[in-house]
Amino acid sequence: MLPKVLEIDAKCAKDPRYFDWELWKKANDIKLTISPIPEKMGGLGWSALANAVLVEELASVCLATASNITFNTFGLLGAMVECRPGIVLKVIREMVDAQKKGKPLFWSWAITEPSAGTDMEEGRAMATMHPSTHAEKVPGGFKINGTKCFITNGSLAHYVIANIPFDTSAPRESMATFLIPTDANGFSVGAVERKCGQKASQTAEIIFKDVLVPEENLWEPPGRGLRHTREILSITRGFIGVAGLGLARGALEKAIGFAGRKKIRDHRLIDEEWVQFIIADLLKDIMTVRHACYNFAIALDACHVWRMFDAFPVKAGLNILPRNLLLGNSLAELAQNKFIENIGTAFKNKLVTDKTVETFVKHGSAVKVAGTDLAVKAANSAADIVGLEGMSREHGIEKYFRDAKITQIYEGTNQANRMDVFENAIRPLIS
Ligand SMILES: Cc1cc2nc3c(=O)[nH]c(=O)nc-3n(C[C@H](O)[C@H](O)[C@H](O)COP(=O)(O)OP(=O)(O)OC[C@H]3O[C@@H](n4cnc5c(N)ncnc54)[C@H](O)[C@@H]3O)c2cc1C
Repeated sequence: MLPKVLEIDAKCAKDPRYFDWELWKKANDIKLTISPIPEKMGGLGWSALANAVLVEELASVCLATASNITFNTFGLLGAMVECRPGIVLKVIREMVDAQKKGKPLFWSWAITEPSAGTDMEEGRAMATMHPSTHAEKVPGGFKINGTKCFITNGSLAHYVIANIPFDTSAPRESMATFLIPTDANGFSVGAVERKCGQKASQTAEIIFKDVLVPEENLWEPPGRGLRHTREILSITRGFIGVAGLGLARGALEKAIGFAGRKKIRDHRLIDEEWVQFIIADLLKDIMTVRHACYNFAIALDACHVWRMFDAFPVKAGLNILPRNLLLGNSLAELAQNKFIENIGTAFKNKLVTDKTVETFVKHGSAVKVAGTDLAVKAANSAADIVGLEGMSREHGIEKYFRDAKITQIYEGTNQANRMDVFENAIRPLIS
């Protein structure tokens, strides 16, 4: 990635629809795009902790490219949160098949709407919001209308996991989660945003005009959409914190390299005490935030959806059944049986309770704020060290600066994340 990211950033500044397939294909060839899928089924079988290390490393070079590579596992995450065996197997089979063929299989998660960003993630705000999207029951399935905006990979996605209400005057009570294939009639992509940073990762408006989806694509029934959102956030917010950590490290490494080369008067810039203080202070923050991030990832492995790969029936199945059977049609058909689906959901709900989800939202929010605030601080301090040259494109410092700011806004603004920490950690003690 190193030699290419500035060139890619410049190309995306000219054309926001530019996507560097060469880098993506290299990552796909070594299966980084399907890293959490068990080895026996064709993936790398990486734990949440291993994925956190991956995200930190990639984000230390380019957070947007890191997102292009790792965001691909979104479908799997969405399916695991559902945990109906039929859905999980379908998603794994499609992802493994696409990886083998060297083809992209992109997923988007669409909650934000033109009139509702934070409101779509928070229960009290959701109760009074005015969504533009709307679902309606029709014979054989559902009809979907409306617009979602600022959707990562919305312009590239093959599937969109979307939260859509049935009754726009009661969004919270009627919010449902749908899986929407983007080749459905009536689906279209609007503007691809021209963002200040993270340009290599596309962010797009997506439009539904009488899009018909079959019954089985209703992943969560009306009233359960917010729970689905919270559960995804309880995992992804922590990973955004990890991405912020990676960016902070990358910015610091660049500044150290510069300060070691730059001569002022008769010595190197790095020999200045004020520079050493900034570096030491950032290193202390990076070490501390890394502990928080990796603890979060270890907790995901031990107590959240990753734990399912280690749970007895899943582990036994993976050990005993041959690969062709695991990925074959007969198991996929069997897994769609209503009885088996219900067992899968009950099993997962026992492992990941509502209390687990809210605990992880609280910790994930704390990690997200810590990692992303650090990203902004590190990019800022790196610019202080490098000075004027840091503001020119060739050094890459200004790119870290632009990329970092966005991390404080998405996956819930850092203000909303702080509110979540307060609501979950302190509110129960004072009310
Ligand atoms: C690069 C990028 C990628 C993104 N990718 C996705 C994606 O893949 N899927 C997706 O669904 N969305 C995505 N988003 C959208 C993102 O999640 C929203 O931007 C975010 O939720 C904030 O919403 P908003 O921008 O509408 O801000 P608003 O909700 O309008 O907030 C504006 C300000 O008001 C504050 N505020 C809002 N509500 C409250 C409240 N109740 N109490 C107190 N203060 C409040 C906020 O903290 C903020 O300071 C992306 C955004 C960006 C920039």
